[in-house]
Amino acid sequence: MGTMLEVRNLWAGYTDFVVRDLSFAVAGGELVGILGRNGSGKSTLLRGLTFGLRRRQGQVLVQGEDCAALSPRQRARRMALLPQHTPTSPGLRVEEVLELGRYPWEGPLRPPGSQTRELVRRAAEQFGIAGLLYRDCAALSQGQRQLVQLARVAVQGAPVLLLDEPNSALDFPNTHQFFRTLTGLLAGGERCALVVLHDPALALRWCGRLLLLEEGRLVGELRPGETGLHEVQSALGRLYPGLQVRQDRESGRLFCAME
Ligand code: ATP
Ligand code: MG
Repeated sequence: MGTMLEVRNLWAGYTDFVVRDLSFAVAGGELVGILGRNGSGKSTLLRGLTFGLRRRQGQVLVQGEDCAALSPRQRARRMALLPQHTPTSPGLRVEEVLELGRYPWEGPLRPPGSQTRELVRRAAEQFGIAGLLYRDCAALSQGQRQLVQLARVAVQGAPVLLLDEPNSALDFPNTHQFFRTLTGLLAGGERCALVVLHDPALALRWCGRLLLLEEGRLVGELRPGETGLHEVQSALGRLYPGLQVRQDRESGRLFCAME
């Protein structure tokens, strides 16, 4: 698959730079995990990619096009961000929140057309929230709200998905169902996803590639399906001191535990 997202020498931060000189590329169909300790710059990286920070430099290209020259709406057609925390929208029904996902394409104050309604219906189905469409968003549980936000990102229809801890409020089955759904969305190779995760076992299970972040710098890269156990152990053990990676003999799956 061709390169979908290319990041060249990205610096991003606030008063000072936090993310330092990151360069990487993500191909169509790829599910790339970002791992790093609290405060290592994962959320800042995603904000920097979507031009959500004033203090940034470097290039972000989507399908070869430099995003710096684009308006925020044009960028939102190319990259969809699920922030780590999304404010609730009191008074909005789930259906309306999902319809907002089409804003980059349709602009404000347009009644949803049949295409939007179909995209909303499909995303609600995919993320298991079809039964919640007419509920007030503010009256949902945290996990239900997270599923709504994930469905909104899918409705946005951008080829690059940037998801910051997308499973932080999801229960165990919903977490795996979310990864199955995401893998399905990526299967055609027309999208790619960069996903911030805290659970290394989950990252090893679902991501084709992992980027390891330490103090805003890229300190390693792993391909779980191709990298040997010792290399995985040494890279993840460096990031998370005391972490032990084990392999199940029958399935070959990797598991993690703390010493
Ligand atoms: P977590 O796993 O806790 O979500 P993270 O890897 O996403 O952490 P960031 O939120 O990117 O970390 O924060 C990286 C650094 O930037 C931290 O030192 C943090 O204190 C700082 N930082 C984050 N947000 C701001 C802000 N709005 N203003 C100033 N500094 C910030
Ligand atoms: Mg964060």
